[in-house]
Amino acid sequence: MEQIYTFGKYLREKFDKKVFKVGINISGFTCPNIDGTVARGGCTFCENDSFSASTNEIKELKGFYLNLDSKENPYLQKQLNQLQLQFDSISNRQKREFGAEAFLVYFQSWTNTYAPFDTLKALYDKALSFDDVLGLSVGTRSDSITEETLSYLAELNKEKEIWIEFGIQSIYDETLKKINRGHDAKNVEIWIKKAKEKGLNVCGHLIFGLPGEDKEMMLETAKKAYEWGIDSVKYHPLYVVKKTALANEYLRGEFKPISKEEYIDVLVEAIKLKPKNISVQRITAGIDDDSLLAPMWCRNKNQQIKDINKALKKVGLKY
Ligand code: SF4
Repeated sequence: MEQIYTFGKYLREKFDKKVFKVGINISGFTCPNIDGTVARGGCTFCENDSFSASTNEIKELKGFYLNLDSKENPYLQKQLNQLQLQFDSISNRQKREFGAEAFLVYFQSWTNTYAPFDTLKALYDKALSFDDVLGLSVGTRSDSITEETLSYLAELNKEKEIWIEFGIQSIYDETLKKINRGHDAKNVEIWIKKAKEKGLNVCGHLIFGLPGEDKEMMLETAKKAYEWGIDSVKYHPLYVVKKTALANEYLRGEFKPISKEEYIDVLVEAIKLKPKNISVQRITAGIDDDSLLAPMWCRNKNQQIKDINKALKKVGLKY
């Protein structure tokens, strides 16, 4: 049985330590697809509360949002304090419960390059100053990163381990329009290639089960993402969360979620097509609370992993 090359294995081989990602959510950050810069309402599946941490931790920041044109950020010190508090709390728990020895600070929620450069630099520098932090992983959209920020991350990458995570989702513009993504596939390709040219590590997020897509289209997206040079991949099924545009489409009968069997089938094929040097960070996703509207198989992650492993075993693979 061949073990799939996971991100955990990549980190163990590179650092010979138990390295954990520490997911961070900074108040005052938003997304150009929500604030009206490219669209309003966000991607049709996006419900802000589905992010990992509360978005209103700093009360004064209620209603204050940064963007690329922001000139001043009076709340920077509060954001830096918030970063420290979140890092301390999560990393201490990871040490206690899982024996974590080192960390990558993962700017996870919102669009973590969508702020003035000085703010980004202060946050990235602060994160890298924490004990046992080996590097960063910065989640963003390809239409929301500047050359200046990319170059700075590339500079940091000379001494540290720097990753950028781009939502690719689909290479089909008609699909990206249907989910109100606000940018096209060419934009993602361009910025992934720019990041790679600068020597950065890139993780691509893919969603299977997007509206109107069949298995062939999903696999074509995976193949293109591999060709663009990503170093790591996260695969997700599209699930419907309450209070989203997608929930309305689902309730009107206009969107049929991917079945577990279809998802596993396309996932196994996508993994078989994947070059072996691309590590896998995630093979499924779900949400274990009442906000999940459909499909209900996305509620039980342990069962999903068991079923995926059963299917992988049939082709000689193990996650
Ligand atoms: S890019 Fe991310 S944060 Fe922005 S609307 Fe889409 S899913 Fe939500």
